Amino acid sequence: MKRLGRLVWLCLVVTLLIAVVGCSGFSHIRVLELDSDLLTVTFIDVGQGDSILIRTPSGKTMLVDGGERSAGNKVVRVLGEKGIQRINVMVGTHPHADHIAGLIRVLQKLTVDAVYDSAKPYSSKTYEDYLRLIYDKNIPFHAARAGDEIFLDDSVKISVLWPPHTDAGDPFHIEKLSVNDASVILYISFGDSTLLLTGDAETMVEKELIRKGSVPEAQVLKIAHHGSATSSSDAFLNMVKPEIAIICVGADNTYGYPHRETIKSLTGMGSEILRTDIHGTIVLQSDGRTWTVKP
Ligand SMILES: [Zn+2]
Repeated sequence: MKRLGRLVWLCLVVTLLIAVVGCSGFSHIRVLELDSDLLTVTFIDVGQGDSILIRTPSGKTMLVDGGERSAGNKVVRVLGEKGIQRINVMVGTHPHADHIAGLIRVLQKLTVDAVYDSAKPYSSKTYEDYLRLIYDKNIPFHAARAGDEIFLDDSVKISVLWPPHTDAGDPFHIEKLSVNDASVILYISFGDSTLLLTGDAETMVEKELIRKGSVPEAQVLKIAHHGSATSSSDAFLNMVKPEIAIICVGADNTYGYPHRETIKSLTGMGSEILRTDIHGTIVLQSDGRTWTVKP
Protein backbone atom coordinates (compact mmCIF):
# COMPACT_ATOMS: atom_id res chain seq x y z
CA MET A 1 0.00 0.00 0.00
CA LYS A 2 2.88 2.28 0.97
CA ARG A 3 4.64 1.32 -2.30
CA LEU A 4 1.47 2.06 -4.30
CA GLY A 5 1.16 5.44 -2.56
CA ARG A 6 4.72 6.33 -3.51
CA LEU A 7 4.19 5.25 -7.12
CA VAL A 8 1.05 7.42 -7.35
CA TRP A 9 3.02 10.30 -5.83
CA LEU A 10 5.86 9.82 -8.33
CA CYS A 11 3.47 9.73 -11.29
CA LEU A 12 1.84 12.90 -9.96
CA VAL A 13 5.17 14.71 -9.62
CA VAL A 14 6.30 13.65 -13.10
CA THR A 15 2.99 14.82 -14.58
CA LEU A 16 3.15 18.10 -12.66
CA LEU A 17 6.76 18.75 -13.67
CA ILE A 18 5.95 18.21 -17.32
CA ALA A 19 2.78 20.31 -17.14
CA VAL A 20 4.12 23.23 -15.10
CA VAL A 21 7.63 23.73 -16.40
CA GLY A 22 7.89 21.49 -19.46
CA CYS A 23 7.61 24.35 -21.89
CA SER A 24 10.03 26.70 -20.19
CA GLY A 25 13.03 27.86 -22.18
CA PHE A 26 16.65 28.53 -21.35
CA SER A 27 16.52 32.08 -20.11
CA HIS A 28 19.55 32.20 -17.83
CA ILE A 29 22.28 30.38 -19.71
CA ARG A 30 25.67 31.87 -18.96
CA VAL A 31 28.24 31.54 -21.68
CA LEU A 32 31.66 30.74 -20.28
CA GLU A 33 34.53 32.19 -22.25
CA LEU A 34 36.81 29.39 -23.37
CA ASP A 35 39.72 29.79 -25.74
CA SER A 36 38.94 26.47 -27.35
CA ASP A 37 37.17 25.34 -30.48
CA LEU A 38 36.89 21.77 -29.31
CA LEU A 39 33.99 19.68 -28.09
CA THR A 40 35.08 17.84 -24.95
CA VAL A 41 33.36 14.68 -23.72
CA THR A 42 34.39 13.34 -20.31
CA PHE A 43 33.38 9.86 -19.20
CA ILE A 44 33.79 10.32 -15.44
CA ASP A 45 35.01 7.23 -13.60
CA VAL A 46 32.17 6.73 -11.11
CA GLY A 47 32.84 3.03 -10.52
CA GLN A 48 29.84 0.90 -11.43
CA GLY A 49 27.58 3.44 -13.20
CA ASP A 50 27.52 6.12 -15.89
CA SER A 51 28.35 9.82 -15.81
CA ILE A 52 29.18 11.70 -18.99
CA LEU A 53 29.96 15.40 -19.28
CA ILE A 54 29.77 17.23 -22.59
CA ARG A 55 31.25 20.70 -22.90
CA THR A 56 30.85 22.71 -26.07
CA PRO A 57 33.44 25.14 -27.46
CA SER A 58 31.45 28.08 -26.05
CA GLY A 59 31.35 26.49 -22.59
CA LYS A 60 27.80 25.09 -22.53
CA THR A 61 27.54 21.98 -20.40
CA MET A 62 25.44 18.84 -20.50
CA LEU A 63 25.69 16.12 -17.85
CA VAL A 64 24.25 12.71 -18.76
CA ASP A 65 23.77 10.63 -15.58
CA GLY A 66 25.70 10.93 -12.32
CA GLY A 67 26.55 7.44 -11.08
CA GLU A 68 25.53 6.08 -7.68
CA ARG A 69 24.81 8.35 -4.70
CA SER A 70 28.32 7.65 -3.37
CA ALA A 71 29.75 9.04 -6.66
CA GLY A 72 27.89 12.36 -6.39
CA ASN A 73 30.69 14.15 -4.55
CA LYS A 74 33.26 12.99 -7.10
CA VAL A 75 31.12 14.23 -10.00
CA VAL A 76 30.73 17.61 -8.27
CA ARG A 77 34.50 17.71 -7.64
CA VAL A 78 35.33 16.92 -11.30
CA LEU A 79 32.94 19.65 -12.43
CA GLY A 80 34.55 22.06 -9.94
CA GLU A 81 38.04 21.24 -11.21
CA LYS A 82 36.87 22.15 -14.70
CA GLY A 83 35.49 25.45 -13.40
CA ILE A 84 31.91 24.41 -14.05
CA GLN A 85 29.29 25.87 -11.72
CA ARG A 86 26.33 25.50 -14.01
CA ILE A 87 24.87 22.57 -15.91
CA ASN A 88 22.81 23.82 -18.84
CA VAL A 89 21.24 20.44 -19.57
CA MET A 90 21.05 17.48 -17.21
CA VAL A 91 19.90 14.12 -18.57
CA GLY A 92 18.72 11.23 -16.39
CA THR A 93 18.72 8.34 -18.86
CA HIS A 94 16.59 6.06 -16.64
CA PRO A 95 15.70 5.86 -12.95
CA HIS A 96 18.21 3.20 -11.80
CA ALA A 97 20.44 4.43 -8.97
CA ASP A 98 23.74 3.88 -10.84
CA HIS A 99 22.59 6.57 -13.27
CA ILE A 100 20.56 9.14 -11.36
CA ALA A 101 21.53 8.89 -7.68
CA GLY A 102 24.74 10.92 -8.08
CA LEU A 103 22.76 13.63 -9.88
CA ILE A 104 21.12 14.47 -6.54
CA ARG A 105 24.42 15.95 -5.24
CA VAL A 106 24.85 17.88 -8.49
CA LEU A 107 21.32 19.29 -8.16
CA GLN A 108 22.10 20.31 -4.56
CA LYS A 109 25.44 21.96 -5.36
CA LEU A 110 25.18 23.45 -8.86
CA THR A 111 22.74 25.52 -10.86
CA VAL A 112 20.91 23.31 -13.35
CA ASP A 113 18.96 25.00 -16.14
CA ALA A 114 16.91 22.07 -17.42
CA VAL A 115 16.44 18.34 -16.90
CA TYR A 116 15.61 15.80 -19.62
CA ASP A 117 14.49 12.45 -18.27
CA SER A 118 12.94 9.18 -19.38
CA ALA A 119 9.93 10.07 -17.16
CA LYS A 120 9.62 6.35 -16.63
CA PRO A 121 7.21 5.72 -13.71
CA TYR A 122 9.39 4.06 -11.07
CA SER A 123 9.19 3.77 -7.33
CA SER A 124 12.37 4.25 -5.32
CA LYS A 125 13.51 6.63 -2.59
CA THR A 126 16.38 7.74 -4.88
CA TYR A 127 14.13 8.63 -7.83
CA GLU A 128 11.75 10.35 -5.42
CA ASP A 129 14.59 12.46 -3.91
CA TYR A 130 15.81 13.41 -7.41
CA LEU A 131 12.34 14.37 -8.68
CA ARG A 132 11.55 16.28 -5.49
CA LEU A 133 14.73 18.37 -5.83
CA ILE A 134 13.95 19.20 -9.45
CA TYR A 135 10.41 20.15 -8.45
CA ASP A 136 11.46 22.19 -5.37
CA LYS A 137 14.07 24.08 -7.41
CA ASN A 138 11.53 24.72 -10.16
CA ILE A 139 13.90 23.37 -12.82
CA PRO A 140 12.26 22.87 -16.23
CA PHE A 141 11.65 19.13 -16.62
CA HIS A 142 11.17 17.48 -20.01
CA ALA A 143 10.25 13.94 -20.92
CA ALA A 144 12.79 13.18 -23.69
CA ARG A 145 11.15 11.40 -26.62
CA ALA A 146 12.37 10.19 -30.02
CA GLY A 147 12.34 13.00 -32.56
CA ASP A 148 13.03 15.67 -29.93
CA GLU A 149 16.11 17.81 -30.24
CA ILE A 150 17.83 19.15 -27.16
CA PHE A 151 19.26 22.62 -27.63
CA LEU A 152 22.62 23.15 -25.98
CA ASP A 153 24.70 25.16 -28.41
CA ASP A 154 24.44 26.23 -32.08
CA SER A 155 27.51 24.15 -32.96
CA VAL A 156 26.21 20.87 -31.53
CA LYS A 157 23.15 18.89 -32.58
CA ILE A 158 21.61 16.57 -29.98
CA SER A 159 18.83 14.24 -31.13
CA VAL A 160 16.75 11.94 -28.94
CA LEU A 161 16.42 8.49 -30.61
CA TRP A 162 14.58 6.67 -27.80
CA PRO A 163 12.13 6.19 -26.03
CA PRO A 164 9.41 6.77 -28.63
CA HIS A 165 6.33 8.99 -28.52
CA THR A 166 3.52 6.46 -28.12
CA ASP A 167 -0.09 6.05 -27.09
CA ALA A 168 -0.90 4.09 -23.95
CA GLY A 169 -1.84 0.96 -25.96
CA ASP A 170 1.45 0.81 -27.85
CA PRO A 171 3.78 -2.10 -26.94
CA PHE A 172 6.65 0.37 -26.67
CA HIS A 173 4.77 2.75 -24.37
CA ILE A 174 7.02 3.98 -21.55
CA GLU A 175 5.00 2.16 -18.89
CA LYS A 176 5.41 -1.15 -20.73
CA LEU A 177 9.17 -0.86 -21.23
CA SER A 178 11.58 -2.32 -18.69
CA VAL A 179 13.51 0.33 -16.76
CA ASN A 180 16.69 -0.33 -18.79
CA ASP A 181 14.74 -0.24 -22.06
CA ALA A 182 13.22 3.11 -21.06
CA SER A 183 16.74 4.62 -21.35
CA VAL A 184 17.05 7.92 -23.18
CA ILE A 185 19.32 7.37 -26.21
CA LEU A 186 21.10 10.43 -27.58
CA TYR A 187 22.87 11.01 -30.88
CA ILE A 188 25.24 13.95 -30.80
CA SER A 189 26.98 15.51 -33.77
CA PHE A 190 29.58 18.28 -33.90
CA GLY A 191 30.71 18.97 -37.46
CA ASP A 192 31.57 15.53 -38.82
CA SER A 193 32.16 14.08 -35.36
CA THR A 194 29.49 11.82 -33.94
CA LEU A 195 28.71 10.21 -30.60
CA LEU A 196 25.97 7.81 -29.53
CA LEU A 197 24.94 7.49 -25.87
CA THR A 198 22.77 4.49 -25.14
CA GLY A 199 22.09 4.39 -21.38
CA ASP A 200 21.32 0.80 -20.40
CA ALA A 201 19.04 -0.02 -23.37
CA GLU A 202 19.04 -3.69 -24.30
CA THR A 203 18.69 -5.72 -27.50
CA MET A 204 14.91 -5.30 -27.70
CA VAL A 205 15.44 -1.56 -28.16
CA GLU A 206 18.29 -2.15 -30.62
CA LYS A 207 16.01 -4.40 -32.70
CA GLU A 208 13.23 -1.82 -32.76
CA LEU A 209 15.62 0.99 -33.73
CA ILE A 210 17.01 -1.20 -36.54
CA ARG A 211 13.44 -1.98 -37.68
CA LYS A 212 12.62 1.72 -37.80
CA GLY A 213 15.84 2.51 -39.67
CA SER A 214 16.95 4.91 -36.94
CA VAL A 215 20.38 3.57 -36.04
CA PRO A 216 23.04 6.07 -37.10
CA GLU A 217 26.70 5.39 -37.68
CA ALA A 218 28.71 6.91 -34.85
CA GLN A 219 32.46 7.31 -34.44
CA VAL A 220 32.14 7.03 -30.67
CA LEU A 221 29.68 4.66 -28.96
CA LYS A 222 29.04 4.59 -25.23
CA ILE A 223 28.44 0.86 -24.92
CA ALA A 224 25.04 0.16 -23.38
CA HIS A 225 24.53 -1.30 -19.92
CA HIS A 226 28.19 -1.39 -18.84
CA GLY A 227 29.12 -3.92 -21.53
CA SER A 228 26.42 -6.45 -20.66
CA ALA A 229 25.77 -9.12 -23.29
CA THR A 230 22.05 -8.28 -23.03
CA SER A 231 22.91 -5.22 -25.17
CA SER A 232 25.31 -4.58 -28.08
CA SER A 233 24.02 -7.18 -30.52
CA ASP A 234 26.20 -7.72 -33.59
CA ALA A 235 23.37 -6.40 -35.79
CA PHE A 236 23.35 -3.12 -33.83
CA LEU A 237 27.14 -2.74 -33.63
CA ASN A 238 27.47 -3.45 -37.36
CA MET A 239 25.17 -0.50 -38.07
CA VAL A 240 26.83 1.92 -35.65
CA LYS A 241 30.37 0.94 -36.71
CA PRO A 242 32.09 2.63 -33.75
CA GLU A 243 35.76 3.52 -34.11
CA ILE A 244 35.92 4.08 -30.35
CA ALA A 245 33.83 2.11 -27.85
CA ILE A 246 33.58 3.46 -24.30
CA ILE A 247 32.59 1.12 -21.49
CA CYS A 248 31.60 2.77 -18.20
CA VAL A 249 32.01 0.01 -15.64
CA GLY A 250 33.23 -0.57 -12.09
CA ALA A 251 36.32 -2.68 -11.39
CA ASP A 252 35.50 -6.15 -10.01
CA ASN A 253 31.75 -5.54 -10.25
CA THR A 254 29.52 -8.40 -9.13
CA TYR A 255 27.74 -8.61 -12.52
CA GLY A 256 30.83 -9.68 -14.46
CA TYR A 257 30.59 -6.59 -16.72
CA PRO A 258 31.78 -6.10 -19.35
CA HIS A 259 30.75 -9.50 -20.70
CA ARG A 260 33.21 -11.43 -22.85
CA GLU A 261 30.79 -11.53 -25.81
CA THR A 262 30.65 -7.72 -25.96
CA ILE A 263 34.43 -7.35 -25.90
CA LYS A 264 34.75 -10.07 -28.55
CA SER A 265 32.27 -8.33 -30.88
CA LEU A 266 34.00 -4.97 -30.49
CA THR A 267 37.47 -6.43 -30.94
CA GLY A 268 36.26 -8.35 -33.99
CA MET A 269 35.11 -5.17 -35.69
CA GLY A 270 38.34 -3.32 -34.87
CA SER A 271 36.92 -0.78 -32.42
CA GLU A 272 39.28 0.82 -29.94
CA ILE A 273 37.94 -0.08 -26.49
CA LEU A 274 38.33 2.34 -23.58
CA ARG A 275 37.06 1.34 -20.13
CA THR A 276 36.66 3.43 -16.99
CA ASP A 277 37.64 0.44 -14.80
CA ILE A 278 41.00 0.26 -16.60
CA HIS A 279 41.65 3.78 -17.86
CA GLY A 280 39.81 5.78 -15.16
CA THR A 281 38.13 8.97 -16.33
CA ILE A 282 38.29 9.14 -20.14
CA VAL A 283 38.43 12.46 -21.98
CA LEU A 284 37.74 12.73 -25.72
CA GLN A 285 38.00 15.90 -27.75
CA SER A 286 36.82 16.68 -31.24
CA ASP A 287 37.72 19.51 -33.57
CA GLY A 288 34.63 18.71 -35.65
CA ARG A 289 36.48 16.17 -37.79
CA THR A 290 38.35 13.68 -35.61
CA TRP A 291 38.27 12.55 -32.01
CA THR A 292 41.40 12.58 -29.91
CA VAL A 293 41.79 10.70 -26.64
CA LYS A 294 43.31 13.11 -24.13
CA PRO A 295 46.13 11.57 -22.08
ZN1 LIG B 1 23.39 1.01 -15.29
